[in-house]
Amino acid sequence: MSPKFNIAPLSDWPINTAFPFIISGPCSAESEAQVLESAHALKKTGKVSLLRAGIWKPRTRPNSFEGIGAPALEWLMKAKAETGLPLTTEVANAYHVEACLKAGVDVLWIGARTTVNPFSVQEIAEALKGVDIPVIIKNPINPDLQLWIGALERLQLAGINKLMAMHRGFSSSQKSIYRNDPMWELPIALMSQHPEVPIICDPSHISGNRELLLPVAQKAFDLGMQGVMIESHPNPDKALSDKAQQVVPERFKEIIDSIQFRRTHNNDIDQEAALATLRSRIDEIDRGVIKLLAERMDVAMEIGTFKKKHDITILQLDRWIEIFNTRSEHALELGFSEDFITSFLEQLHKESIRIQTKVMNNMKD
Ligand code: PEP
Ligand code: MN
Repeated sequence: MSPKFNIAPLSDWPINTAFPFIISGPCSAESEAQVLESAHALKKTGKVSLLRAGIWKPRTRPNSFEGIGAPALEWLMKAKAETGLPLTTEVANAYHVEACLKAGVDVLWIGARTTVNPFSVQEIAEALKGVDIPVIIKNPINPDLQLWIGALERLQLAGINKLMAMHRGFSSSQKSIYRNDPMWELPIALMSQHPEVPIICDPSHISGNRELLLPVAQKAFDLGMQGVMIESHPNPDKALSDKAQQVVPERFKEIIDSIQFRRTHNNDIDQEAALATLRSRIDEIDRGVIKLLAERMDVAMEIGTFKKKHDITILQLDRWIEIFNTRSEHALELGFSEDFITSFLEQLHKESIRIQTKVMNNMKD
C-alpha cells in the first residue's frame, strides 16, 4: 500500500468546497454566448461550486469537434467575472497548464485519457512545480488503481497538496447500460487505501445518457463521495460533444434537488447502537462463512490426495459444470445476482485447484 498522501484540507482551497461539492457546465466551451448562457443559468440554480467547460477535447476519433483551444479561456474568464463562479477546465499537457495559469483558471482537472499515460501526467506535474493550485484527477480509462494512485503521486511529488480524485468509470468490452462501467469497487479500493484523498464522481461520463445521471449520482453520495460533476448545456441536443448525456441547467438543478444526502456517520446514540447490533451479527456470520470455507478446502485437500493416489487429473470438467450449475441455480433462487454467484464460484474453484495442485506436486506453503 502506498504511503498516505499529504492532502491540504478542502477548506484551504481558494474556492467554496462545502459539501456537497458540485461542478457543472458544458462538456465543451463552444462559443462565448454558450459559455455565458451556461454560467448565468447555473449561477441561478444556486447549486454550483465550480463551473466547468472543456477547451481542449480529447476525442476518440479525429474530425470531430476537438475544442476551441486557448481563445475560449477568455470566455470562461468573462463568465467568472459576470457570475463570480470559479472555473475548472481539463489540462492534458504543459502548454494547457501554462495557458490556464496565465488566464487565472481556479482548479485544473486531468482527464481519463491523460491519467492513463505517465509521460503526460509527469509533464503536467513538472509544469505545476512551485504552483499552488487544486488539481482533480480522473481515474484512468482502464480499470487500473495503481495508475490512478500513480498520477496522484506524481502531482504530490511536484508539490501539489490540494488534490482530489474523480471517478468517471472505466472502458469495458462488456455490453452495459453505462457508457463507462462504474466498477464501484475501484473507487472504493482507492477510498479504503487512501481515505485522506477527497473523491467526487462524474455521473455524466459514467452514464453517457441523461436517464442514469440521478441514480449514479445518488450511488456516489451513498458510497460517501463528496461531490459530483454533471455536464449541462443550454441546448443539449445541439451540443458539439457528448449531447446524449448533457442536461439543461434547470434539469441539473432538479437532479441535485432529488439527491438524498445521507450522513456517513450517525450522531444518534440509539441508532448507532441498533446498527452496532446488526454489525455484530454480520461479524459472526462472516466468521462462520470463513470457517465453512476452510472446512470445504480441507475436503478439497483430501480429494487432492485421493486424485494423486489414483492418478486422476485435478480438473474434472463434468463435476465442475455440475457444481457451477446446481450452485448457481440455488443462489439465483435465493436472490443473488448472476454476476455475484458466477465470480464467487469461480474464485472458490480457483482456490480448490490451487490447493489440489499443491497436494499433487507435494508443494509446501
Ligand atoms: C470531460 O469531462 O469532458 C471528459 C473528457 O471526461 P473524461 O476524461 O472522463 O473522458
Ligand atoms: Mn464530456
